[in-house]
Amino acid sequence: MAGAGEVLCLFDVDGTLTAARQKVTSDMAEFLQNLRKKVKVGVVGGSDFEKIKEQLGDDVVEKFDFVFPENGLVAYKDGKFLSRQSIHAHLGEDLLQEIINYCLAYIAKLKLPKKRGTFVEFRNGMLNVSPIGRNCTQEERIEFYELDKSLRMCMGTMTTTYTSGYSHFLFCSMRRPRLALQPALHTGGQISFDVFPNGWDKTYCLGILEKEAFSQIYFFGDKTMPKEHFRDKFVADLRKEFDGKGLTFSIGGQISFDVFPNGWDKTYCLGILEKEAFSQIYFFGDKTMPHKPEVVPWLRNGAYSTANIR
Ligand SMILES: [Mg+2]
Repeated sequence: MAGAGEVLCLFDVDGTLTAARQKVTSDMAEFLQNLRKKVKVGVVGGSDFEKIKEQLGDDVVEKFDFVFPENGLVAYKDGKFLSRQSIHAHLGEDLLQEIINYCLAYIAKLKLPKKRGTFVEFRNGMLNVSPIGRNCTQEERIEFYELDKSLRMCMGTMTTTYTSGYSHFLFCSMRRPRLALQPALHTGGQISFDVFPNGWDKTYCLGILEKEAFSQIYFFGDKTMPKEHFRDKFVADLRKEFDGKGLTFSIGGQISFDVFPNGWDKTYCLGILEKEAFSQIYFFGDKTMPHKPEVVPWLRNGAYSTANIR
């Protein structure tokens, strides 16, 4: 256990201590060893232990007080192995198989321009799910990515985090309280997404560090700033400023947003029609369905039907 009042400086690896997937420079390595004379120093990376050794050296566990490959699913302390966790041990075979079966059944019903192999890849800390299959060629990958992206464009800004079309539908229909989903960053998010238990990100290792008595833990990473969506923030500020004034702010398109009085959407004309004595009015439009991600591509693009899934 760390002495009471000790400080830990914890560093992300890729993009922080090293360029993505590259080896640490000698300057950085020296700086870290100097820092270690003053405080405890730990590293946490998303990659596995082998990859972290390639980047930080074979003696990485001796050079740092804590080493957390796979975000801490594997942990080393003071040069010794400490613990290991896996998605299989955590979720159990039943739930794991339920998720895999769900993904495979979902993908089985998708009609895509190309389908290849390895639709669900099992890894220690996650499942990686790909509608086209990870065995696709680079050309097929790009073809899928472009199609997937165009579907997402059709859907507009359904979510603030980046998710792509096909992956997104599967994604949305899979939401479960214990699971987190995110695009697979290691592949640029082009053809797959990851499924893993909630909290199994870089913060996972903090659970392990709780047992230590550090007075403070400083985390250094290249992605620690909250993502600032300029338009979202702008609109949120406007809503606050003009609260109660009966205005709607609607983000649409790529570069702008609209401001208009409440109710000035397609229903506006109904006010005019009220004076007429119609017994019934039938409205026909392309966006009349309640928001249901998995039917959207069917409505917009009959060639790639994912309707009736679930
Ligand atoms: Mg990083």
